[in-house]
Amino acid sequence: MSEKVMIFSEVKNFTQDLIDWQKKLGRHDLPWQKNRTAYRVWLSEIMLQQTQVSTVLNRYDEFLKIFPTVERLGAATVDEVLAQWSGMGYYTRARNLHRCAQSVMTDHDGVFPSDPKVLESLPGIGRSTAAAVAVFAYGKRAAILDGNVKRVLARIWGFDQDLTKTLHTNQLWSHAENLLPHKKSDLIAYTQGLMDFGATHCTQYQPACIDPQKGSCPFKKSCVAYLSERINQIPLKVKKVKVEKIDMTWWVMIHQDQVLLEKRPEKGIWAGLWCFPESQELVKEPSQAMPAFKHVLTHRQMTIKPIKVHLKKRVRLQENQQWFSLNDVGGLGLPKPMSLFLKSLDLVRDGE
Ligand code: SF4
Repeated sequence: MSEKVMIFSEVKNFTQDLIDWQKKLGRHDLPWQKNRTAYRVWLSEIMLQQTQVSTVLNRYDEFLKIFPTVERLGAATVDEVLAQWSGMGYYTRARNLHRCAQSVMTDHDGVFPSDPKVLESLPGIGRSTAAAVAVFAYGKRAAILDGNVKRVLARIWGFDQDLTKTLHTNQLWSHAENLLPHKKSDLIAYTQGLMDFGATHCTQYQPACIDPQKGSCPFKKSCVAYLSERINQIPLKVKKVKVEKIDMTWWVMIHQDQVLLEKRPEKGIWAGLWCFPESQELVKEPSQAMPAFKHVLTHRQMTIKPIKVHLKKRVRLQENQQWFSLNDVGGLGLPKPMSLFLKSLDLVRDGE
């Protein structure tokens, strides 16, 4: 497709209608909407990237209690950060969070930059997150365009191009910038409105124009996707990535009240987290195959087969392996299925 300027038709009063909608029906009591410092906004934006609001609500204050400032977060070890992130998935976010805090401390005198372009140069901060921090914490004029916002704009303007292509996302970015309110005092309500409207009304499935329980949609009369009955086609869904099937063996080796864990490599599934070893040196004690279970990641379906062994003597440690007391494993950075599996095991009693 040749480079061309996309002309978006005018949707009368979109910006003002969205601001009015946010003031009346948007979200106003989320913890990160109070005391909007760059650190608090940034943390919430990263947490919300791939985790539901209900989960983040349970974890946000807890995380801030342990790491109340960017300084404390930067001074922590990556293991401490991963441990606090346990169960939220997509652990690259936690590692980038840590690297970003260190960069703010060393390169920016402990203060998050206010320029969205500079924010974007920090680890783990994309263009939309940089804009959100710049708007909410510093009142800057910048456009957000996360997945929810793409859906809202694409539907209302009937933008049915493939959004995995840079050309098309750039067209949507320009459109998002053109829609920004002129009054600085409206920027926060407008940006929050886009987020809230996408998350609660113009949802991927059953948006408000179809599901009356979600309330009415102020853009129904001009929404191209609705008027042309293409809500399910816009935004365009590209072919799904093939799901990779993975078989994984967990050697659950127990000695007295201790369990053997191995830190996973820095790249790949559950990078840098603690898990059971996938292989073991020959042990003489009898092993017991436990029921296999499935765990699904975005593009992977894993079948995990645990094998339990009660050792009379400790085995020789391999690289990155360590014995941990069962009382201490909860404080480690563990993948979610590990935490659930450990909770389901009565290892101490079994080991008696
Ligand atoms: S009419 Fe439906 S699809 Fe269009 S903006 Fe409203 S909720 Fe979204």
